[in-house]
Amino acid sequence: MIFIGDIIASENEYLAGKGTFVDDEGNICAAVIGKVVKDDAKKEISVRGRLLLPKPGDIAIAMVTDVKEKVVLLDLEEVKNSKGVVRRLPKKSGLIFIANLSQSYLENPRQAVKIGDLIRGEIADEDPGAYFISIKDPSYGVLLGLCSKCRSKLIEKTKDMKLKDCSVMVCSKCKGIETRKTAKDYIYRGVQK
Ligand SMILES: [Zn+2]
Repeated sequence: MIFIGDIIASENEYLAGKGTFVDDEGNICAAVIGKVVKDDAKKEISVRGRLLLPKPGDIAIAMVTDVKEKVVLLDLEEVKNSKGVVRRLPKKSGLIFIANLSQSYLENPRQAVKIGDLIRGEIADEDPGAYFISIKDPSYGVLLGLCSKCRSKLIEKTKDMKLKDCSVMVCSKCKGIETRKTAKDYIYRGVQK
């Protein structure tokens, strides 16, 4: 079994066939997961395999591009399965319904995320246009939040009293206070210096 990025031959030996790409050093590498097939008559090497598309249960890293009344719009940056295998992204649009943001009841999605935030979530479902993401689980949520006024990074201070899985965030520059549904490994946390 060959994985994406594995070197399978050199350009001096073979022509790069289907399911391969050539790197900067002239190595022929696998572009898909599968089996190497050599055609010695044509001097061509290819990889026959699956395209590894995202599916429910996979983990997505995404940027929040818009927040509507009941839904959050995302641009997916990367999708991996639980073993860390990167998936190809035939579409990049994602969305989170308000009910999939937090285990607490939210009146407005902006209590959990805002435009420009980087989030980690799980693909719950998909349709031809977009992936449906959930960040309800404690391991999912905002990884890096930006102040909605000055765009500086937000520091995670304490848990929110009312929204039990959300946190109180303080802007590192203007000291503005907001809330976010953070992932358990939010990047900036603790006491601000
Ligand atoms: Zn600020």
